[in-house]
Amino acid sequence: MFFVFNGTAANSLSLAHLCQSYHSVICHELAHIETDECGGPEFFSNGSKLLNAPGPNGKLTPDGIEQLITKRTDIHYPRPRVISLTQCTEVGTVYTIEELQAIREVADRHDLQIHMDGARFANACAALGVSPAELTWKAGVDVLCFSGTKNGLAMGEAVIFFDRKLARDFDYRCKQAGQLASKMRFIAAPWMGLLENDVWLKNARHANGMAHYLAERLEAFEGIELLFPSQANSVFANFPEHVLTALRARGWTFYTFIGAGGARFVCSWNTTTDLLDGLLEDIREVL
Ligand SMILES: *Cc1c(COP(=O)(O)O)cnc(C)c1O
Repeated sequence: MFFVFNGTAANSLSLAHLCQSYHSVICHELAHIETDECGGPEFFSNGSKLLNAPGPNGKLTPDGIEQLITKRTDIHYPRPRVISLTQCTEVGTVYTIEELQAIREVADRHDLQIHMDGARFANACAALGVSPAELTWKAGVDVLCFSGTKNGLAMGEAVIFFDRKLARDFDYRCKQAGQLASKMRFIAAPWMGLLENDVWLKNARHANGMAHYLAERLEAFEGIELLFPSQANSVFANFPEHVLTALRARGWTFYTFIGAGGARFVCSWNTTTDLLDGLLEDIREVL
């Protein structure tokens, strides 16, 4: 297990570690590594190409993966080496254990490794009520990027290789990429606070609970449509344009360019029902 500063470094360096430059990484078209890391994985791997597949609710499917793998098998095409799964996905949905196992089956057939972008991994464990082990190595995940930043820490991500052989020299890769903190204890120590007494899980459960609270009430409004099932800690919704403008005029800030569009609301360890009630009240008035 290794610590790095942020999720882009965790993903980029772990993917680079699994690939030669002539390999490719299969990911969803909305994957953070594809849309939000400024080409980091390609840069740190010296050119390993990301191959995108569509899939409902931000998730790769075994068929979509298989199609990418079998589309070309000649030497002119970068050879697929890794499947990257985001758990929870960029649109707030969760891969079930059965879905992970089905993807592992495709991976085994084609000798691929599975990387998991776990920026919201804790939220997935909380949502499914399963242990981290069940959701990773027991379901065939080879490398997990486990986020501290998205679950209450100031910064820091853990990169976990479930096969020690795969981790060989990863410390050198981190150092070369500027990810070795000389005062590493300031990244490592907060993890003790997060992991002891299940604080990581409590934080995630709280965040998920707040998102459910929000989703349930948003859905009840006429004229508002949820874009995806809200299975963890985020809610994506379509609002009439004038509502977005009016909410912003009242001081609410939110993005509408992430994932497949729509207003995105992400709940965290410190979201309160008071805050959400304030938002819902403003939406009601504006509507
Ligand atoms: C936030 C996030 C990351 C990491 O982003 P950094 O800003 O580099 O820490 C990676 N993947 C997903 C899905 C994320 O939400």
